[in-house]
Amino acid sequence: MNLPASPLRLRLDKSALVANWRWLKQQSGSAACGAAIKADGYGTDAAGALQYLADAGCRDFFVATWAEALALLPLAKGLSLSVLHGLREEDMPVARQAGIKPVLNTVQQIQRWKDAGGGPCDVMVDTGINRLGLSMDEALGQVLDGLQIRTLMSHLACADTDHPLNMLQLDRFSRLRPTISAERYSLANSAGICLGRDYAFDLTRPGLALYGGVPRDEARGHIRQVAFPEAEILQRKTVRAGEGIGYNATLMAPRDMELAILNIGYADGYLRNFSNKGAALATDGTVLPVAGRVSMDLLIIDVSMQPELKEGDWVTIDYVLEQASALSGLSQYELLTGLGERFERYWQ
Ligand SMILES: *Cc1c(COP(=O)(O)O)cnc(C)c1O
Repeated sequence: MNLPASPLRLRLDKSALVANWRWLKQQSGSAACGAAIKADGYGTDAAGALQYLADAGCRDFFVATWAEALALLPLAKGLSLSVLHGLREEDMPVARQAGIKPVLNTVQQIQRWKDAGGGPCDVMVDTGINRLGLSMDEALGQVLDGLQIRTLMSHLACADTDHPLNMLQLDRFSRLRPTISAERYSLANSAGICLGRDYAFDLTRPGLALYGGVPRDEARGHIRQVAFPEAEILQRKTVRAGEGIGYNATLMAPRDMELAILNIGYADGYLRNFSNKGAALATDGTVLPVAGRVSMDLLIIDVSMQPELKEGDWVTIDYVLEQASALSGLSQYELLTGLGERFERYWQ
């Protein structure tokens, strides 16, 4: 049986994705610009993001896990896909598939790769985030000898703020460069690209900003929204002044009001932080405030200003990431990656 059309959609703007990548590439100067497409392209659609970015000229892609990589095979010719979370024993059979390569993070992983015959790989060095990666001492020792390193990389801890660690990590990474032989060197994520050309080296690895996140002031005005949640109106009704609206009656209708009940809730990633704060937008841009608490599967909005909106119509949820983040207290990353399975995703 064919499924009925979903009452919840995520519209994804192809041209915005590509425009964001082009801006990040331009900011990367002479460095190549890759794309982090882990967590299903930050909640968008990794396969679609990969295809549209590859069409635009992007060649280097990054996912977190081998399962994420396998879901993207077969890769078009000339593309590179790196798996950031390293190489466990159980990953070995899939790690040899064409086009995908491990990012080796530990001495044990390096040994495992060498024992299996080696081949092209990436290596992560920890220059100060204290997350995945070889220590500086390990990297400057002998363990990397004999590896075929495509990209030597490190990851910035504080690039979205002006923190002394940025310069310190840049210095440490610059120290590694002449002593470790690799085809390319890579340090910057989205925010790192905004720190300037010194941080770009040979390859940048933006994620967030591709999908509409503004990592630093420098990017504001250049990054376009990519993901637009759209929900169908399931019911429209009138409430009388003084009635409670939604769970726990956190809003008492200050006047007679017209409400629309939408097919979206916190189980879809639209969290309760937006209760009485968020908004939907009518097609003409009219702001339709969230009324009361966000429920698990439903959202109530005030449509008093829109007499013509009716059951079966669609509204767009206001989801400009920087503003939505300030409003909700959730990070732009959480706002994107939390968007759930029930959205029907479509590129336009
Ligand atoms: C996620 C990730 C990126 C992308 O970071 P953004 O802040 O989303 O631009 C780059 N490099 C590594 C190693 C990552 O884990």
